[in-house]
Amino acid sequence: MRDTSLLQLALSIAPPWSVTASDFDAAARRLDIHIDFVAGSRFACPSCGTAGCPAYDTEPMTWRHLNFFQHQAYLHARVPRVRCAACGVKKISVPWARPDSGFSLLFEALLMSLVTAMPVNTVARLVGEHDTRLWRVIHHYVERARARTELSAVDRVAIDETAARRGHNYITLFVDIDQARVVFATEGKDAETVAAFAADLASHGGNPDAVREVCIDMSPSFIKGVAGSLPNAAVTFDRFHAVKIVNEAVDQVRRSERRVHRILAGTRYLWLRNPANLSQRQRTSLDSLPLRHLKTARAYQIRLAFQELYEQPSPENGKVFLKRWYFWATHSRLAPVVDAARTVKRHWDGILRWFDSKIANGLIEGINSLVQAAKAKARGYRSIRNLKAIVYLIAGKLDLQLAA
Ligand SMILES: [Zn+2]
Repeated sequence: MRDTSLLQLALSIAPPWSVTASDFDAAARRLDIHIDFVAGSRFACPSCGTAGCPAYDTEPMTWRHLNFFQHQAYLHARVPRVRCAACGVKKISVPWARPDSGFSLLFEALLMSLVTAMPVNTVARLVGEHDTRLWRVIHHYVERARARTELSAVDRVAIDETAARRGHNYITLFVDIDQARVVFATEGKDAETVAAFAADLASHGGNPDAVREVCIDMSPSFIKGVAGSLPNAAVTFDRFHAVKIVNEAVDQVRRSERRVHRILAGTRYLWLRNPANLSQRQRTSLDSLPLRHLKTARAYQIRLAFQELYEQPSPENGKVFLKRWYFWATHSRLAPVVDAARTVKRHWDGILRWFDSKIANGLIEGINSLVQAAKAKARGYRSIRNLKAIVYLIAGKLDLQLAA
């Protein structure tokens, strides 16, 4: 078997195309494979599909292909333009590559599996290509897969924002709770993001009016956005976010009390954690404090009690429990705790909604940590558009339909 026949088989090149030559240059560490079509071949029109169009002229093209062991491999062919009676002169597409891509389909499939596993910059170094070329491939496959995504069954959604760059620039993620996938990611964290999601949902076969449950934090933008764009959704306020608000009140009490009680210096994390998560040493430190006399300790007890809300056995028990908690917190004479309790009061129904929906952003937090890890590894994605593409890629459960 001649090496061209072997390459032809390995590349699945079919008539009218055939491998005509190969040049292996060990010093340059590259393999060049030349593909050509039989003279006089006819091709289908790429626009209307009419078969048997004659070649009009050709354009030489090159595609990067999978490495041949440690050697870079390139495919070369002259690509015909055909003359179609209906459409005029059109460049045909070759079976081994997408139009206008400088990579073969198999090389793109390799790139896509690599960028799912490691930072794009690393992949770029590994394959010796500039990352902007890789981003073009990523955007193509992500956009194509997203265009095909069916969202008609989406009716429970968790919404949360994540910082795109340190300190500023946010993207908001919309998670289909039942499929545990990010279905939409958009820049910003205002009410408009929810409107953008509703429009995107509708364009993928979904129905904003059919969304019956959402889980959000207590940000006024999300509350407003949901009311305006997902009118039939019952709102559950994320329980972790609710607890965080009460926990922050504990921290405020501690900070002001520390000025009076120096014994509180260095105890911040003792109060922020749950007792079960303290080390033996932290446990001992906490027990050694004069708890009876500290305002911080009272605030801490009120926070622990708030968390018990979520252990109540029924919505009715939950309601009674929260009322009692509210009375206690508002009579604590601890200003930050009173404020936190009032915040809870203003979001009463959405906090209690948890007993019916049992949804929380724990899921989205998991997705967030995937996103954060990817961001850290990539050291900046150059643009929000790139970040969104990676979010869809790792958390969107896309069907990429890669060449195999
Ligand atoms: Zn045509």
